[in-house]
Amino acid sequence: MKLCRFNGGRLGVAHPERNVVVDVSAVLDRIAPQRYPLPQQDLLVASLPSLRGHIEDAERHGQSLALDSVVLDSPIANPGKIIGAPVNYADHAAEGQQDKGIAHGRQIPPIGEWGMFLKAGSSLVGFGQEIELRFADRRNDHELELGVIIGSTCRRVRRSEAMKHIAAYCIALDMTLRGPEFQCFRKSIDTYSVLGPWLVTADEIADPGALDLELKVNGVVKQRSNTRDLIYDVPRLIEFASSFYTLNPGDVIMTGTPAGVGPVKPGDSLEVWIDKIGSGTVRIAPDYVPANEQDH
Ligand code: MN
Repeated sequence: MKLCRFNGGRLGVAHPERNVVVDVSAVLDRIAPQRYPLPQQDLLVASLPSLRGHIEDAERHGQSLALDSVVLDSPIANPGKIIGAPVNYADHAAEGQQDKGIAHGRQIPPIGEWGMFLKAGSSLVGFGQEIELRFADRRNDHELELGVIIGSTCRRVRRSEAMKHIAAYCIALDMTLRGPEFQCFRKSIDTYSVLGPWLVTADEIADPGALDLELKVNGVVKQRSNTRDLIYDVPRLIEFASSFYTLNPGDVIMTGTPAGVGPVKPGDSLEVWIDKIGSGTVRIAPDYVPANEQDH
Protein backbone atom coordinates (compact mmCIF):
# COMPACT_ATOMS: atom_id res chain seq x y z
CA MET A 1 0.00 0.00 0.00
CA LYS A 2 1.16 3.48 -0.89
CA LEU A 3 0.05 5.99 1.75
CA CYS A 4 0.40 9.71 1.33
CA ARG A 5 -0.43 12.87 3.22
CA PHE A 6 -1.63 15.76 1.13
CA ASN A 7 -3.30 19.19 1.07
CA GLY A 8 -2.35 20.05 4.63
CA GLY A 9 -3.19 16.92 6.61
CA ARG A 10 -5.38 14.71 4.39
CA LEU A 11 -4.54 10.99 4.29
CA GLY A 12 -4.63 9.19 0.98
CA VAL A 13 -3.95 5.89 -0.73
CA ALA A 14 -1.85 6.67 -3.79
CA HIS A 15 -2.08 4.85 -7.12
CA PRO A 16 0.60 6.60 -9.15
CA GLU A 17 0.21 4.24 -12.12
CA ARG A 18 -3.36 5.60 -12.51
CA ASN A 19 -2.60 9.16 -11.30
CA VAL A 20 -5.15 8.66 -8.53
CA VAL A 21 -5.20 9.34 -4.82
CA VAL A 22 -8.17 8.15 -2.76
CA ASP A 23 -8.96 10.29 0.29
CA VAL A 24 -9.19 8.08 3.39
CA SER A 25 -8.85 10.90 5.93
CA ALA A 26 -11.87 9.67 7.91
CA VAL A 27 -9.66 6.87 9.23
CA LEU A 28 -7.58 9.42 11.15
CA ASP A 29 -10.52 9.79 13.56
CA ARG A 30 -9.67 6.30 14.77
CA ILE A 31 -6.36 7.46 16.25
CA ALA A 32 -7.05 7.73 19.96
CA PRO A 33 -7.15 11.31 21.29
CA GLN A 34 -3.93 12.19 23.06
CA ARG A 35 -3.11 14.10 26.21
CA TYR A 36 0.04 15.80 27.27
CA PRO A 37 2.77 14.57 27.44
CA LEU A 38 2.65 13.12 23.93
CA PRO A 39 4.73 10.06 23.09
CA GLN A 40 7.86 10.62 21.00
CA GLN A 41 6.53 8.87 17.96
CA ASP A 42 4.40 9.36 14.88
CA LEU A 43 0.86 8.37 15.80
CA LEU A 44 -0.16 7.37 12.28
CA VAL A 45 2.78 4.97 11.89
CA ALA A 46 2.27 3.63 15.41
CA SER A 47 -1.40 2.99 14.61
CA LEU A 48 -0.85 1.57 11.14
CA PRO A 49 -1.19 -2.14 12.04
CA SER A 50 -4.66 -1.54 13.53
CA LEU A 51 -5.69 1.05 10.91
CA ARG A 52 -4.74 -0.92 7.83
CA GLY A 53 -8.03 -2.78 7.44
CA HIS A 54 -9.99 0.43 8.01
CA ILE A 55 -7.91 2.19 5.35
CA GLU A 56 -8.75 -0.59 2.89
CA ASP A 57 -12.45 -0.25 3.78
CA ALA A 58 -12.38 3.53 3.47
CA GLU A 59 -10.75 3.28 0.09
CA ARG A 60 -13.85 1.64 -1.39
CA HIS A 61 -15.96 4.73 -0.91
CA GLY A 62 -13.36 7.48 -0.56
CA GLN A 63 -13.20 10.40 -2.98
CA SER A 64 -10.74 9.94 -5.85
CA LEU A 65 -8.57 12.88 -6.86
CA ALA A 66 -5.93 13.30 -9.51
CA LEU A 67 -2.63 12.59 -7.78
CA ASP A 68 -0.91 15.34 -9.75
CA SER A 69 -3.49 17.89 -8.56
CA VAL A 70 -2.77 17.58 -4.83
CA VAL A 71 0.05 19.05 -2.73
CA LEU A 72 2.02 16.23 -1.16
CA ASP A 73 3.05 16.72 2.48
CA SER A 74 5.76 14.74 4.22
CA PRO A 75 4.28 11.24 4.63
CA ILE A 76 5.57 11.26 8.21
CA ALA A 77 4.12 14.14 10.19
CA ASN A 78 5.97 13.81 13.49
CA PRO A 79 9.09 11.68 13.36
CA GLY A 80 10.72 11.47 16.77
CA LYS A 81 14.08 11.29 15.02
CA ILE A 82 15.49 11.64 11.53
CA ILE A 83 18.71 9.63 11.56
CA GLY A 84 21.36 10.06 8.87
CA ALA A 85 24.03 7.63 7.69
CA PRO A 86 27.28 9.30 6.57
CA VAL A 87 29.46 7.85 3.79
CA ASN A 88 27.49 4.65 3.34
CA TYR A 89 28.36 3.99 -0.33
CA ALA A 90 32.02 3.36 -1.26
CA ASP A 91 31.76 5.46 -4.43
CA HIS A 92 30.50 8.44 -2.43
CA ALA A 93 33.36 8.02 0.05
CA ALA A 94 35.75 8.04 -2.93
CA GLU A 95 34.26 11.19 -4.45
CA GLY A 96 34.54 12.84 -1.03
CA GLN A 97 38.30 12.23 -1.19
CA GLN A 98 38.54 13.70 -4.70
CA ASP A 99 36.24 16.71 -4.32
CA LYS A 100 37.43 18.80 -1.37
CA GLY A 101 34.18 20.76 -1.47
CA ILE A 102 32.28 17.78 -0.09
CA ALA A 103 34.07 17.09 3.21
CA HIS A 104 35.52 20.58 3.59
CA GLY A 105 39.04 19.23 4.08
CA ARG A 106 38.05 16.84 6.87
CA GLN A 107 39.28 13.25 6.94
CA ILE A 108 36.10 11.20 6.96
CA PRO A 109 36.33 7.94 8.95
CA PRO A 110 34.26 4.86 8.06
CA ILE A 111 30.65 4.85 9.24
CA GLY A 112 31.42 2.30 11.96
CA GLU A 113 33.81 4.76 13.60
CA TRP A 114 31.99 7.98 12.80
CA GLY A 115 28.52 6.85 13.76
CA MET A 116 25.24 8.28 12.61
CA PHE A 117 23.77 11.76 12.99
CA LEU A 118 20.43 13.45 13.60
CA LYS A 119 18.55 15.94 11.46
CA ALA A 120 16.05 18.29 13.09
CA GLY A 121 12.35 17.51 12.65
CA SER A 122 11.81 21.17 11.75
CA SER A 123 13.77 20.59 8.53
CA LEU A 124 11.16 18.16 7.19
CA VAL A 125 9.00 18.81 4.11
CA GLY A 126 7.17 16.77 1.49
CA PHE A 127 7.41 16.70 -2.29
CA GLY A 128 4.76 19.42 -2.56
CA GLN A 129 6.94 21.96 -0.81
CA GLU A 130 10.00 23.68 -2.24
CA ILE A 131 13.53 23.45 -0.90
CA GLU A 132 14.59 26.93 0.20
CA LEU A 133 18.34 27.51 -0.05
CA ARG A 134 19.15 29.41 3.13
CA PHE A 135 22.69 30.28 2.02
CA ALA A 136 22.42 30.28 -1.75
CA ASP A 137 25.92 31.78 -2.08
CA ARG A 138 27.41 28.62 -0.52
CA ARG A 139 27.43 25.08 -1.88
CA ASN A 140 24.16 23.21 -1.29
CA ASP A 141 24.11 19.57 -2.47
CA HIS A 142 21.44 17.03 -3.29
CA GLU A 143 21.78 13.60 -1.65
CA LEU A 144 19.29 10.98 -2.83
CA GLU A 145 18.72 8.21 -0.30
CA LEU A 146 16.41 5.32 0.54
CA GLY A 147 14.29 6.30 3.57
CA VAL A 148 13.37 3.61 6.09
CA ILE A 149 10.44 4.19 8.47
CA ILE A 150 10.56 2.38 11.80
CA GLY A 151 7.30 0.68 12.78
CA SER A 152 7.78 -0.46 16.37
CA THR A 153 9.70 0.60 19.45
CA CYS A 154 12.98 -1.23 19.67
CA ARG A 155 16.46 -0.95 21.11
CA ARG A 156 19.67 -2.94 20.67
CA VAL A 157 18.18 -4.87 17.76
CA ARG A 158 20.22 -7.62 16.12
CA ARG A 159 20.48 -7.27 12.39
CA SER A 160 18.81 -10.67 11.98
CA GLU A 161 15.75 -9.27 13.78
CA ALA A 162 15.77 -5.80 12.24
CA MET A 163 13.41 -6.22 9.30
CA LYS A 164 10.37 -6.84 11.49
CA HIS A 165 10.73 -3.30 12.91
CA ILE A 166 10.29 -1.62 9.51
CA ALA A 167 6.88 -0.13 8.73
CA ALA A 168 7.56 1.39 5.33
CA TYR A 169 9.97 2.94 2.86
CA CYS A 170 10.06 6.21 0.97
CA ILE A 171 12.36 8.42 -1.06
CA ALA A 172 14.54 10.75 1.01
CA LEU A 173 16.57 13.80 0.11
CA ASP A 174 19.25 14.65 2.66
CA MET A 175 19.90 18.18 1.46
CA THR A 176 23.25 19.43 2.67
CA LEU A 177 24.93 22.77 3.07
CA ARG A 178 28.68 22.11 2.63
CA GLY A 179 31.02 23.84 5.01
CA PRO A 180 32.77 23.77 8.37
CA GLU A 181 29.75 23.38 10.68
CA PHE A 182 28.61 20.17 12.37
CA GLN A 183 26.60 17.88 10.08
CA CYS A 184 23.54 18.07 12.31
CA PHE A 185 23.58 21.87 11.92
CA ARG A 186 24.26 22.07 8.16
CA LYS A 187 21.76 19.34 7.29
CA SER A 188 18.95 20.61 9.54
CA ILE A 189 18.12 23.87 7.81
CA ASP A 190 14.36 24.30 7.25
CA THR A 191 13.28 22.28 4.16
CA TYR A 192 16.58 20.32 3.96
CA SER A 193 14.92 16.97 4.79
CA VAL A 194 12.50 15.83 2.10
CA LEU A 195 10.42 12.63 2.36
CA GLY A 196 7.97 11.26 -0.14
CA PRO A 197 6.22 11.16 -2.41
CA TRP A 198 4.41 8.55 -0.26
CA LEU A 199 5.15 5.65 2.06
CA VAL A 200 5.33 2.17 0.60
CA THR A 201 4.45 -0.34 3.30
CA ALA A 202 7.13 -2.89 4.05
CA ASP A 203 5.12 -5.84 2.71
CA GLU A 204 5.61 -4.47 -0.84
CA ILE A 205 9.42 -4.47 -0.67
CA ALA A 206 10.82 -7.88 0.20
CA ASP A 207 14.44 -6.80 -0.12
CA PRO A 208 15.44 -3.17 0.51
CA GLY A 209 18.97 -4.17 -0.48
CA ALA A 210 18.18 -4.53 -4.20
CA LEU A 211 16.58 -1.24 -5.23
CA ASP A 212 17.75 0.90 -8.14
CA LEU A 213 17.68 4.62 -7.43
CA GLU A 214 18.24 7.66 -9.60
CA LEU A 215 18.29 11.44 -9.33
CA LYS A 216 18.25 13.95 -12.19
CA VAL A 217 18.83 17.68 -11.95
CA ASN A 218 16.95 19.56 -14.68
CA GLY A 219 16.71 16.32 -16.68
CA VAL A 220 20.39 15.32 -16.38
CA VAL A 221 21.22 12.13 -14.47
CA LYS A 222 23.49 12.92 -11.50
CA GLN A 223 23.08 9.93 -9.19
CA ARG A 224 22.34 6.36 -10.28
CA SER A 225 23.00 3.38 -8.05
CA ASN A 226 21.48 0.39 -6.29
CA THR A 227 21.00 -0.18 -2.57
CA ARG A 228 23.01 -3.40 -2.85
CA ASP A 229 26.03 -1.09 -2.75
CA LEU A 230 25.22 0.18 0.75
CA ILE A 231 28.23 -0.35 3.05
CA TYR A 232 25.91 -0.86 6.06
CA ASP A 233 22.75 -2.40 4.64
CA VAL A 234 19.31 -1.63 6.06
CA PRO A 235 19.29 -4.30 8.82
CA ARG A 236 22.79 -3.30 9.91
CA LEU A 237 21.81 0.39 10.01
CA ILE A 238 18.92 -0.50 12.32
CA GLU A 239 21.26 -2.55 14.48
CA PHE A 240 23.77 0.30 14.59
CA ALA A 241 21.27 3.10 15.23
CA SER A 242 19.42 1.09 17.89
CA SER A 243 22.68 0.31 19.69
CA PHE A 244 22.71 4.01 20.62
CA TYR A 245 19.08 5.17 20.33
CA THR A 246 15.74 3.65 21.19
CA LEU A 247 13.85 3.64 17.89
CA ASN A 248 10.17 4.51 17.87
CA PRO A 249 7.35 4.27 15.31
CA GLY A 250 7.82 6.97 12.71
CA ASP A 251 11.54 7.40 13.25
CA VAL A 252 13.24 7.79 9.88
CA ILE A 253 16.61 6.42 8.81
CA MET A 254 18.14 8.07 5.76
CA THR A 255 20.41 5.28 4.59
CA GLY A 256 23.14 7.27 2.86
CA THR A 257 23.81 8.60 -0.60
CA PRO A 258 25.71 7.15 -3.56
CA ALA A 259 28.21 9.03 -5.73
CA GLY A 260 27.10 11.93 -7.87
CA VAL A 261 26.21 14.49 -5.22
CA GLY A 262 26.52 18.03 -6.42
CA PRO A 263 25.34 21.57 -6.00
CA VAL A 264 21.84 22.84 -6.73
CA LYS A 265 20.72 26.39 -7.40
CA PRO A 266 17.46 28.29 -7.08
CA GLY A 267 14.94 27.15 -9.69
CA ASP A 268 16.45 23.68 -10.18
CA SER A 269 14.17 20.69 -10.55
CA LEU A 270 15.15 17.41 -8.86
CA GLU A 271 13.55 14.33 -10.40
CA VAL A 272 13.98 11.31 -8.14
CA TRP A 273 13.09 7.66 -8.53
CA ILE A 274 13.52 4.52 -6.45
CA ASP A 275 12.46 1.11 -7.73
CA LYS A 276 9.24 -0.21 -6.10
CA ILE A 277 8.57 3.19 -4.48
CA GLY A 278 8.03 5.47 -7.46
CA SER A 279 9.10 8.84 -8.66
CA GLY A 280 8.50 12.50 -8.07
CA THR A 281 9.86 15.97 -8.59
CA VAL A 282 11.08 18.37 -5.93
CA ARG A 283 11.78 22.00 -6.77
CA ILE A 284 14.44 24.32 -5.42
CA ALA A 285 12.57 27.57 -4.70
CA PRO A 286 13.47 30.00 -7.50
CA ASP A 287 13.41 33.22 -5.52
CA TYR A 288 13.61 32.38 -1.82
CA VAL A 289 14.97 35.11 0.46
CA PRO A 290 15.53 34.25 4.13
CA ALA A 291 13.05 36.20 6.26
CA ASN A 292 15.74 38.03 8.23
CA GLU A 293 17.26 39.38 5.01
CA GLN A 294 14.09 40.70 3.39
CA ASP A 295 14.51 44.14 4.96
CA HIS A 296 18.19 44.55 4.07
MN1 MN B 1 23.24 11.85 3.42
